[in-house]
This record gives sequence, C-alpha cells and structure tokens, in this order.
Amino acid sequence: MSGRRIGVYVCGCGGNISDYVSIDDVVTAVKDEPDVVVARTAMFTCSDTTQQEIIQDIEEQQLDGIVVASCSPKLHTFTFREMSKRAGLNPYEYTQVNIREQCSWTHTDDTAGATEKAARLVRAGIARTRLTEPLEPIVVETVPKAVVIGGGIAGLRAALGLAEIGIAVFVVEKEPELGGWVGGFGEMYPHGKNGRELVAGLVDQVRGRSDITIFTDSEVVGKSGSFGNYEVAIRVNGASAETLTVQAGSIVVATGFDSYAPEPGEFGYGLEGVVTLPEFKRLLDASEGPLEYAGRPVRSIVYIYCVGSRQSEGNEYCSRYCCTAAVHASL
Ligand code: SF4
Ligand code: SF4
Repeated sequence: MSGRRIGVYVCGCGGNISDYVSIDDVVTAVKDEPDVVVARTAMFTCSDTTQQEIIQDIEEQQLDGIVVASCSPKLHTFTFREMSKRAGLNPYEYTQVNIREQCSWTHTDDTAGATEKAARLVRAGIARTRLTEPLEPIVVETVPKAVVIGGGIAGLRAALGLAEIGIAVFVVEKEPELGGWVGGFGEMYPHGKNGRELVAGLVDQVRGRSDITIFTDSEVVGKSGSFGNYEVAIRVNGASAETLTVQAGSIVVATGFDSYAPEPGEFGYGLEGVVTLPEFKRLLDASEGPLEYAGRPVRSIVYIYCVGSRQSEGNEYCSRYCCTAAVHASL
C-alpha cells in the first residue's frame, strides 16, 4: 500500500461496453486492489451528472487518484483531466483505460474473455496511478525567434504567420531558391490556383519583412539547448561558405517530401513513355496545346496506382495523395 486513495469508475457506454463486458464483474475484480477506495460502474461516465458524482467522491472520500475505464483516451482524456482540475486534483492524477475500442468492440464474441481482459487493463491503470508521480506544469521564458527549416510553401506560410505574431524568423532553405515543390507547379487541385504564382506572392511577402531572415543554399547542421532556447547552427554554402549560430525559441520543420523514384524497369520505368506522376505533371504544365510526348501526340494514358506505396518493398503505407493527384492530372 502506498497510502493513495484511488477512485475507479467502469463505464458501460450505454451498452457499447456493457453489452460485451460485464462491468459489474470488472468492478468486483478490481475493488480490492491496493489503495482503491471507491469502485463503481456508470452508464455514461462522461455525462455531466456522472462527472459531478465523481467530483463529489473526490471531495468526500479525499481521493487523490482517478481511473476511468471507458473509451479511447483520444476521446475523453481532456474531459476527465478538466474534471479532476475542477475537483482540485492535479489533472495528471487521472488515468484513462480503454476498454471500449481495445476490448468490448474487439471481443464481441467472447464476453468472459472481454471481461477478464477489461479487469486486467483496469488493474494496470490502477497500478499506474498508484506508482507514478504527477507532472507539475512549468513555465519557461522563450526566445521570441524561430528557425523554419524549409523554404517551400509550408515554410513560407509558417514564417509569415510567426512574423505576424511578433516572432522573428530565420528561414533555412537548402536549394538556391525559395519555393519548393509548389513553386514549380502550374494549376493545382482543388482550387485551381497556380503554384508558381502562389509561391511568388509568398516569397515577395517574406522578402519584404525585416523580421524574416532568409538563408538559401543553406542547411541546419547542429542544434543544442532546450525548449524555448535553442542554439541552431546553419551552414551557408557557396563561394564564401560559413557556419552561423542563431538563437531561437522554437524550430519548425517544414522540409516537405520526396516523390518515389522507381527502380529502372519497375513497372517499365525507363522505357519511353513510362513516367512518374511528377514528371507527367511537369509535362502537362509545360504543354500549351494538345499534349505531346517526345514530339508525338498523346492519345491514351494508363495510370498505375500505388507505385512505391502499399508494398512490402518500399513504403508500406498509403500516401493518401496519389489517387486524387492522378485524377486531377487526367482532367
Ligand atoms: S466516457 Fe466514453 S465510453 Fe463512457 S459513455 Fe462517454 S463516450 Fe462512452
Ligand atoms: S493514395 Fe491511392 S494510389 Fe496512392 S497509395 Fe494510396 S490508394 Fe494507392
């Protein structure tokens, strides 16, 4: 026993949990865990009424730790942290245990197994609450300057946004020119704006501000310090190459992306007429009349989707981009 006083609340979620997990049995299984003072079920723990009941328990039972076994922490961690604060507890004395997405919804065919799993998860949450020490928020002075790594559209927008709220900015771009990928695009989906024009406007705004310093043909080569006060080493390439050090309170990484480069022969890449989507987009942007390739009119086009994505060799994930980009290129 560590002398803690912990309250445990097992949510039924109106049947989402209680139809597949016996929440009464979970309470029975955990109520005698060390330092548990209150253990009970609730139909909707996030409801105002139940939150108020928990606050009342905290005050009357002098609870100093709360465990709610309910849904994903993504949904209600902040709800119950705020509730804990309202009751005078450090919000980090609160632990959320997921027995819905990670238990009742995934074991709908096995109530006994789901109930046992839920009890084990709740025991782990109780142990965590009992054994950990709550964080205390701290306030640190920060240097009102930022380094933005990348001078593409994201970096330019970030630099302007920061400058507008009074933060001096150093933009570090490894290419000789600002603009990145979008700076080379023509019309873009879905708004139809021209990438080159869009970026040119942003570059003008950035260059027009005295509180934004631009380093092109440059790279960040070192970083030391801590939150709010970093020293960032920037190597400026070129004829008179040098390495500078600037102080910054924050660093924005806006380094963009690289498109997938197929291996020679992959889906015929390297044969005449087989191109990547970025290469095709450049062809389209440069074309003024009917589309031509190598001096010949293009009559039909085949798109191969997912190249470099969703495969064990390469990237296993879906880029979530090329479907729409290919459709847009075909319009
Ligand atoms: S706390 Fe989560 S699991 Fe409980 S009722 Fe609310 S949404 Fe459902
Ligand atoms: S966005 Fe579409 S084409 Fe690209 S990897 Fe995902 S599913 Fe495939």
